[in-house]
Amino acid sequence: MSKRPRKEKADTRLVHAGREPALYHGFVNTPIYRGSTVLFPTVAGLEANDQAYTYGRLGTPTVRALEEALAELEGGYATRLTPSGLSAIVATLLALLSAGDHVLVSDSVYRPTRRFCDHALKRLGVETTYYDPLIGDRIKDLIKENTTVVFTESPGSQSFEVQDIPAISKAAHAAGARLVMDNTWATPLYFKPFAHGVDVSIQAATKYIVGHADAMLGAITTTEAAWPDIARTHEDLGLCPGPEDAYLALRGLRTLGVRLARHQASGIELARWLGSRSEVARVLHPALPSDPGHALWARDFTGASGLFAVVLKPVTKEAVGAMLDGLTLFGMGYSWGGFESLILPFDPSAYRTATKWQAEGRALRLHIGLEDVGDLKADLEAGFARLAAFG
Ligand SMILES: *Cc1c(COP(=O)(O)O)cnc(C)c1O
Repeated sequence: MSKRPRKEKADTRLVHAGREPALYHGFVNTPIYRGSTVLFPTVAGLEANDQAYTYGRLGTPTVRALEEALAELEGGYATRLTPSGLSAIVATLLALLSAGDHVLVSDSVYRPTRRFCDHALKRLGVETTYYDPLIGDRIKDLIKENTTVVFTESPGSQSFEVQDIPAISKAAHAAGARLVMDNTWATPLYFKPFAHGVDVSIQAATKYIVGHADAMLGAITTTEAAWPDIARTHEDLGLCPGPEDAYLALRGLRTLGVRLARHQASGIELARWLGSRSEVARVLHPALPSDPGHALWARDFTGASGLFAVVLKPVTKEAVGAMLDGLTLFGMGYSWGGFESLILPFDPSAYRTATKWQAEGRALRLHIGLEDVGDLKADLEAGFARLAAFG
């Protein structure tokens, strides 16, 4: 959109990327374009199909504005939007894999990604091998003749293992395979996928980019080399997000920098505090120096979002229920990345296959929202008192 040189810092680009007020009578925001039919002025124009917009499913100015902003922020060649984060993952795998291929998938991956591999990909003749997320360059030992994709998610969005993306990328590329990364946790602000050897980066924009828990959206951003495959399959699948959702994500993007800074600061403060509690066995947060993934995180990431986990010391299920049921600020529910704090118990032991989930007790995933951090601490402190009262 903008032809200005892109020398400014991320906070400036968040405000200006994907925005061209002069095209819209000076209005600051790109308007919501609703539409299916786009008219062509002449038969010659119709046959040449050479206008910027030709059909609603293939893109509108609202959708393109967000795609251009995300491509720029991720540092990729181009972006396509999808109606959810999961559909971005699915479209990517369908674009890059064919019958007879083999895909390597991190054992810490978002569970519905695993379900797609185990069901649809299997039915289509693609074999999946799950690997230890901490494998690093030893991934080369798992690469086969027919391995065409290595799928990563870093850190894992439940258990927070940090992956050595440059090492995995090097091994994948040496074997002619492409590296896909689910970059939802860090957002394009705190991890630059293409500077670390990723070929296709996925955002569940539903999370921090939308940022207000009011829309579902996914984004696929690629290198120039991977773009034709992604663009073709995206068009084949007829994936088009609603214009209101793209608009909400553009609006979310404008404040992503300030929101993330707050999520990060409050998240680290609460993670430290939780680490000091006698009820907590371990905190899983890569920004804490005690975390096993801290060195890799510090090398490759420029920040931490507000999502992390704790492993409790052994207590009964009922005690955890008493703790969580009485919380007044933390909500219980799926998703994260909105302005509000969330907490969920989780247990990956039933579906991990390459690694064994080893935890001293029950695990809780927390999303730290934009509330006052002292109020959040008080809510959790009262929760720990209910947990202790259960004995
Ligand atoms: C939520 C999530 C997704 C899926 O996004 P939806 O918009 O809910 O489909 C994918 N990856 C990660 C890491 C997520 O947390």
